[in-house]
Amino acid sequence: MKGRVLAGLILGACCTAWAGSSAHWSYAGDTGPDKWASLSPDYGACGGDNQSPINLTGFTEADLPAVEFSFQVGGNEILNNGHTIQVNVPHGNSILVDGIHFNLKQYHFHAPSENRIDGKSYPMEAHLVHADKDGNLAVVAIMFTEAEQNMALAGAWSQLPETAGVSRALASPADVEGLLPESRDYYRFSGSLTTPPCSEGVRWLVMKTPVSASTEQLAAFTHVLHHPNNRPVQPIKARLVLQ
Ligand SMILES: [Zn+2]
Repeated sequence: MKGRVLAGLILGACCTAWAGSSAHWSYAGDTGPDKWASLSPDYGACGGDNQSPINLTGFTEADLPAVEFSFQVGGNEILNNGHTIQVNVPHGNSILVDGIHFNLKQYHFHAPSENRIDGKSYPMEAHLVHADKDGNLAVVAIMFTEAEQNMALAGAWSQLPETAGVSRALASPADVEGLLPESRDYYRFSGSLTTPPCSEGVRWLVMKTPVSASTEQLAAFTHVLHHPNNRPVQPIKARLVLQ
């Protein structure tokens, strides 16, 4: 069941198939983050002990092995789902973590960042959502600083859908590989989806090195989304943040 829910979510098909059983949620007010766990029995995990995002701090030295990235194929569709801007990716991109292949399904953005690093918030964060054959998830998070234009965003950003519910085929494949920072050093912790149903058991791999986006690119994202889309940081509790 868990695998089916997660697979539906990451394929983006969830929102039709699961609309009947999924309560409306948002980033503020009566359906905001502090209410998610009580909005629906399906969202109970939002009150769990291993939730994302977190403030990454108090690092544990772990000599983490390199994540093996095999990204060749670009994103082919961009979607405004009202909660984020998402780029869907066809089969053919994967990472190798813990000896397991996780296929990249989609990536999407949050502004400001959801995770913090030693208390620092960033103007935007990308989440590259991967799933293995059993539906287990691994998310690669990339922080953005406000600096020069990010060419890997440029194509998709030229087709940002302004209206929730609108998707568009991308004119040219979005550059997934180009989103990654040059240094692939990362922090790792165990967490959850940062949106309902907040399912836990997600491998979080947060790139230590941020990448850049221009003032205009950051403004374009917040313009089409109309509201901040960051869940507040959650308690770390018993978890370790490895580096
Ligand atoms: Zn996300």
